[in-house]
Amino acid sequence: MPSHIFGPVPSRRLGLSLGIDLVPFKTCTLDCIYCELGKTATPVSRRAEYVPVTELEAEIKEFFADNPAAGKIDFITLSGSGEPTLNTALPRVIKLLRRLSETPIALLTNGTLFSRPEVRREVLDIDLILPSLDVVSEEIFTLLNRPAAGLKSQEIIAGLSALRREYPGKIWLEILFCAGINDSPAEIERLIQAAGAIQPDKIQLNTVVRPGVLSQARAVSDSFLKSLLPGFGPAAEIIAPFKRNAAADNSLEKTRETILATLKRRPCTADDLKNALGLKKAEVIKILDLLLEKDEIKAQEHTGKRYYQTSK
Ligand code: SF4
Repeated sequence: MPSHIFGPVPSRRLGLSLGIDLVPFKTCTLDCIYCELGKTATPVSRRAEYVPVTELEAEIKEFFADNPAAGKIDFITLSGSGEPTLNTALPRVIKLLRRLSETPIALLTNGTLFSRPEVRREVLDIDLILPSLDVVSEEIFTLLNRPAAGLKSQEIIAGLSALRREYPGKIWLEILFCAGINDSPAEIERLIQAAGAIQPDKIQLNTVVRPGVLSQARAVSDSFLKSLLPGFGPAAEIIAPFKRNAAADNSLEKTRETILATLKRRPCTADDLKNALGLKKAEVIKILDLLLEKDEIKAQEHTGKRYYQTSK
């Protein structure tokens, strides 16, 4: 079963989308307080081959080999349950996709690494980039997005502006508002100025729809989002529901289903699941916690080990 490709799945913004997950669970430059995937253990900004390119290439080739579904996809979406541009395999994956398919390629990214010229160069052949930008002020950036050491919002904005100058494709910039954090008139004015400098083809305003890591991540109202539209100008629109982690959600959902199916067959420890499914222990524990919370599974101690099994 492929572990880095999911879908095709219907996406409101991208039509029928095939997701390619370029990083392991929660490998991210940020630790946003509204992230639905839980906490980023340690935000990282160092790029590496977090998922080996050979693994990605093998799965992509397998998917496109004689697959009738391949012809029906609207977008191939590079994403992940973290930040996809962290993976240095990115240019090779894009090249392979171009060779195997004529389907447009989209990139879902938090935009934090576009201050690096090599990252901007690597994405030039993508058709649509969907970066996010929630704040301009460094203090609010630290509070809301909790970045890896060394990342500065001013440099990220400069990187996104440079991307606009160098990149010929479309950019849809998402701005997510959290009540009481980045919704002050002063911060909104700064975001309007930043969006003006970046000049995206679309500005998509959004808010927290599902609970995130912290209870401080509260939604703003629809009427508040609507009131922002004139300030951001004709490129602005409101998107709902929450899209930031659509790709990651699918990846998480797939793993959740696999874990549930395994536990239906036999009780397992977290280590059993980690080894049997080739997952990271943090990822297994996160999903087990979610399943326990919803009473879909139960835990039992046996010979000093904690076993999990389905409730029914
Ligand atoms: S919301 Fe996206 S950018 Fe923020 S921590 Fe989660 S995966 Fe990373």
